[in-house]
Amino acid sequence: MKLIPLPAFTDNYIWLLHDGQQALVVDPGDAQTVLAALQRCKVQLGTILVTHHHPDHTGGVAALRQATGAQVFGPAREVMPEPLTRVGEADRLRFLGLDFKVMEVPGHTAGHIAYYCAEMDGAPLLFCGDTLFSGGCGRLFEGSPAQMLASLDRLSALPDSTRVCCAHEYTMSNLKFAAAIEPDNLLLARYTASARQLRSEQQPTLPSTLLLERQINPFLRTRQAAVIQAAQGFDATANDEVGIFAALRQWKNQFQ
Ligand code: ZN
Ligand code: FE
Repeated sequence: MKLIPLPAFTDNYIWLLHDGQQALVVDPGDAQTVLAALQRCKVQLGTILVTHHHPDHTGGVAALRQATGAQVFGPAREVMPEPLTRVGEADRLRFLGLDFKVMEVPGHTAGHIAYYCAEMDGAPLLFCGDTLFSGGCGRLFEGSPAQMLASLDRLSALPDSTRVCCAHEYTMSNLKFAAAIEPDNLLLARYTASARQLRSEQQPTLPSTLLLERQINPFLRTRQAAVIQAAQGFDATANDEVGIFAALRQWKNQFQ
């Protein structure tokens, strides 16, 4: 099985998974990028998975469906390009001989979903769209801090070895913020050096792993003393879990 992040626009990744014959893609914001990759890999597109309604994730869906006849799956509760099969919490799907489970992870958008496969070539696989990024999380466009924290807690509870397939290459700017929150986090410093090296070679920093994200991502570390202290330095009124998370997210929004 091959798992390939296809760069699109300035910082999106469209994830391509194929077995040498059949393929699926996740969040194809751009059709041309996917069609070129299908040709390069000599595979046929059977399935399109969408995590949420934003145009940088859905823009290529209609053209790809027309060109390939692929079946489209997307969130039950969002305005989406029709026709598609709508899926929600705990729905089980089978593609390329793999079992996927749908998780509803609201916060970035109100109906955002993630696709989780418990086992693919020896480790789990998570397509989390704009909910979890390496070193960061999505902006709260439609959901509340409490919703996003609950969604991230659910993702964070997945196994250590889960490969985290995010929809954007935001890693370096996220790590800059993470370093401001936890300047003494050695694993964060080490990861930042290796991510910087990858980016200087135009390589993706993704997929990440959940073990790594739990070690370095401040938005998965909101109960750590150092993170609480930093968040309260930004907003002295933040005094519970949700308040700490909200303060961090607010701070990140205005962080340069
Ligand atoms: Zn988005
Ligand atoms: Fe996006």
